[in-house]
This record gives sequence, structure tokens and C-alpha cells, in this order.
Amino acid sequence: MSAVRDSQYDLVVHGGTLIIPGVGRVRSDVGISGDKIVALAGDLSAGGKDVYDASGKVVLPGIFDPHAHIGNERSYDEEAETETRAAVLGGVTTIGIFLRSLEESYMKHLPGFRRAMDELSYVDSVFHPQIFTDEQISEIPRYAAEYGIRSFKFYMSGMPGIVKSVPDDVLLTGFRMVASLGADAIACVHCETGALIDQARKELQKKKDGTLADWEFAHPADAEALAIQTALYLSKVAGAHLYVVHLSSKQGLEVVRNARRQGLRFTVETTSPYLGIASDDPNGFLVKMVPPVRTKDHHDALWQGVTEGSINTIGTDNTSRARATKKPEAGLHGSRSGYPVLGTHLPALLHYGRLRGVPLELLVDRATRAPAKVYGIYPKKGTIAIGTDADLAIVDLDLERVVSPEELQGMSDFSPFEGKKLRGWPVATIKAGKIVARDGKIVGKPTGRYIPRAASNIPPDVEWLSRVQ
Ligand SMILES: [Zn+2]
Repeated sequence: MSAVRDSQYDLVVHGGTLIIPGVGRVRSDVGISGDKIVALAGDLSAGGKDVYDASGKVVLPGIFDPHAHIGNERSYDEEAETETRAAVLGGVTTIGIFLRSLEESYMKHLPGFRRAMDELSYVDSVFHPQIFTDEQISEIPRYAAEYGIRSFKFYMSGMPGIVKSVPDDVLLTGFRMVASLGADAIACVHCETGALIDQARKELQKKKDGTLADWEFAHPADAEALAIQTALYLSKVAGAHLYVVHLSSKQGLEVVRNARRQGLRFTVETTSPYLGIASDDPNGFLVKMVPPVRTKDHHDALWQGVTEGSINTIGTDNTSRARATKKPEAGLHGSRSGYPVLGTHLPALLHYGRLRGVPLELLVDRATRAPAKVYGIYPKKGTIAIGTDADLAIVDLDLERVVSPEELQGMSDFSPFEGKKLRGWPVATIKAGKIVARDGKIVGKPTGRYIPRAASNIPPDVEWLSRVQ
């Protein structure tokens, strides 16, 4: 009998240390058959058709970035391939996509968005449509019934010429519609108060040129903090589960903490760039973003929030651009917001988190299990357990690499992290049971699938606030 015929597993990940959120560090092999994890035990290597030697490495659940934008620069189909290629190379195996901002029905676009994620993507995905109009609000039940969508995004303050703002009355109506779907449905909100932004931008227009540090004042932290208060109030009135996207400031965090102390259950996300890049960064306007990256004291606060559990999830807010349209040389007013960060998400978290002594298990939870629970795809995603999807990021915690845009293999020819040396990189990514990236190269095919979500009346259950003083 040949060894091949005796093999029980299509692939065995051998000799690594598993980091399982909520469990901890476990020395175990992982036996994979098809696209599922089917065994966890001390040494399974004799039973594997293929064996990946993960000795000296840590094995994480595939990273779930709950906050990515696809198709804002190139076509949706093109970015569905290129940006997910960068993602999977960086250990990300599932993304939540904030669908392109449209002011018309999503019904005619959803089949195409879904097909792109089923046919072109390297990673699995869930959708969050961005809701602006009464028509879209009225269609929320159809998006849920026909596409298994359970999360919706609202911009309290838009971006002039790009995204329109949603006033409080529309927000409340939208929250009520989301709440009507069930306790698991999520209202994601970009929290900034428009009037404060308008005033700040008018002030900033007087400045002819400036630096990235000046951009911080176009989107003042007070505008974020005030908007979170409003969103908390309206979501409570409507009975909707609020998910604050991309928290960027210590003022915003203070509002979150106060609400947590009152026992309010809602979810807060920050992003990996906000935890590592400051507004004095030498990459200047390559880092221009809304909300802006801020000074280092905001990093300190956000890391505290992540550690204590007032911040629950960490995403990217990836919005890829080419340098030619980013136009960093056009300065404070002319350069555009948005940056590609899917490929650097995991290395940035590991690098900046461990520099601050944040336990690895906690970092992994915030980037895998917590968002998977909130968005209703746990334990299919977000853990390492028998019967779950075989999506894994195998990481060399000591590997140091200087970020170079070409190596990230997305469509962008820049990175806000370019030139920075980050420590801790994935050396292999397993997606749907197959090694799809290895040693910085794509070695497999796109196997991404769109994940329709089932309705549930169980509200999201994550670690709300465990370590606050
Ligand atoms: Zn976003």
C-alpha cells in the first residue's frame, strides 16, 4: 500500500503553535480534508498527503478584515482580484466589503458584486451596503432575504463630492429598519458630525499649503466624539446594534468608555493604520485618510481601548489607489484620501502591538474571532477547531521585512507603510484547505466565496469590556 493511499488528510500543518482565540496557545498539528479542519492532535504528519512544516511558527486563524472597500479606484471586478490577492498574501482570508457608494437601488448591482467575489476573489467575503436614500432603506429587507446581508453602513458625515451625508432623521429610520431584521443585524456607522467638519475645512482652506499633520484638523476628534454620542442615542431609540467603524481618536474612545460603563452593548472598530502611523509620518500625504491618522497620544489611547476591550475589532478601511490618482505632491488640499493596507494589516498589528506588549492572543482575537462573532460567521471563521473552515495564517514572528509596494501585489504602487520595517509576517496562507500563498508568493488559485448570512435573533456577543479600570 502506498503512503498516498493511507493518507487521511489532504494537508497537515505540522509542528506549529496554534493561537486559538479564547483558548490560548496550543502545540498541535492541524489535519485538513477538503476545505475543512478535521483533526487537531500532537503529530498527524504521517497521515498527510501534503505536510507543511510550521516548526518554529505560530498558526493563526485566517485573518478577517471586516472593513474593506473594493472598486473605488479600478473596476469592481479588477480589484476583487488584485486587492484580495494582496490580502491573502498578508494572511487575510475573509473580508467585509463596504459596497460602492450608490444612491440608487443595490438590487441590480448585487448579482455582479457577488459573482466577482465567487469567481475572482482569493478571499471569502460578506457585504455591507452603504445606505443613503429612502429607497435603499426600504430595500434593506430584500438585501437581507435575497443576499443574506445582515450589516449596513451609514455615513453621518460624507466627503464633499464623493459620499453624501446622512442626516439624523434618515439615520433613525435606517436604524429602525435594520433593527426590524433581528437582534443580530448591524448598523455600521461612520461617526463624524458634518457641521464641525465643514467649519474645520473652511478654516483649513485659508492655509495655502501644509503637512499631513494639518490634515488632522480637517476632521477634528471632537466631530468623531460628538457623532458617536448621537449614534449611540439614536441606535438605542431604534433598538439597533451599533457598530462604530474606524475609531480614530482618544476623544471618541472616551465617549465609548462612558457608554460601556453604563452597560451599553455596541461594537467599536479601529484600524491597523490608526494604531501605527502618526500624523508626523515621513510618508506624508501617502497616508492621507478620512478620518485622519493622528498624533501618537491617540495611538496610546486606541491601544489601551483595544487591550481593555472597549475597542472590539480591528480592520483596515482599505481603499486602494494608484499614486497617480492619490497625488501626494498635490499637497494638503489636492491629494486624495484612501490607501491600500490589506497586505500590511497583520504585520502592522503584530509589529506595533508587540512593541507595546499587547498579548498575541488578544491581537489575534480582535482580528479574527471578535469580528467573526459580530458579523455572524463564527465559528465557520475566526477560530481553529474541528469542522471549521481550513483558513490559516502561518506566521514567523521574528521575520523582519521592509514594506515595499511591489511585494504587496495589489494594484497600488504605494503603501502608507512603505519603507517601514515591520516584524512578524505570514510565511504561508491556507485558504479553503489549500496553500494559496507561500514565502511571499501566490502559489494557489482564487477560491473565494461570498458568504450569505442566516438570520438569527441572538445579538452579537463579544468581549465588551473586560479590563477597564
Ligand atoms: Zn471605510
